Amino acid sequence: MSQRPYIVGNWKMNGSRVMLAEARAIDRAAQRYPDVEIALAPPFPFLGPVREAVSAIGVGGQDCHTAAKGAHTGDVSAAMLADIGSDFVILGHSERRRDHGETDALVRAKAEAALAAGLSIIICVGETLEERDAGKAEAVVSSQVEGSVPAGEVAAVAAGRLALAYEPVWAIGTGRVAAVEDVVAMHAAVGARLAAIFGEDADKVRILYGGSVNGENAAGLLAAAGVGGALVGGASLTADAFLPIVAAA
Ligand code: PGA
Repeated sequence: MSQRPYIVGNWKMNGSRVMLAEARAIDRAAQRYPDVEIALAPPFPFLGPVREAVSAIGVGGQDCHTAAKGAHTGDVSAAMLADIGSDFVILGHSERRRDHGETDALVRAKAEAALAAGLSIIICVGETLEERDAGKAEAVVSSQVEGSVPAGEVAAVAAGRLALAYEPVWAIGTGRVAAVEDVVAMHAAVGARLAAIFGEDADKVRILYGGSVNGENAAGLLAAAGVGGALVGGASLTADAFLPIVAAA
């Protein structure tokens, strides 16, 4: 894995126009870290303003619809995200799988729509605590990868524009970070699934860790084998919290 580490802030349903100042501060600091790829995913209303406020970092959405346009009240298409200058979209986050019943098949369809619109994609996978305690974590995550990642004809395009985020559900927003050895084991399992899908192109896919990453634990996680970056929630909301994670990469 030769790419730059990829550090992505997922603002979830947080923020206001006031947070444009945080985005600007992160963008200014990004110039000090040319060896790290940095991006933010603000809520839809702030996506355009953040895009206009920054130049050194990537900007993306937190979801998109499968269709390019049409009668889907409240939804946003990948084409719209691309039109306002988004670089990527996060898909299949566990909060969307939980709150909106998103299935692997739906996540794959959204991923294909996003690729068609020219976006890069970050597909999230991760097991619940019950699944981990039952010894099923690798099986659950492997099956999410197999079901969510675009395969077949679009695989060649997908590999170059895909990041996979391993986010154990029990580690998200809980302050309970996964043990480094468990992260290494899971990233190896995810890498094996990706190799089965993409062959040699699997090397192009960065595998990010997400779940309670902060300035204190980031260095240990990001140095671990197979960890190509981090998807950060709570600690991405201010430049003060986010930049130590970037520095650790
Ligand atoms: P967290 O969220 O860093 O607040 O745990 C991570 C995520 O859900 O992407």
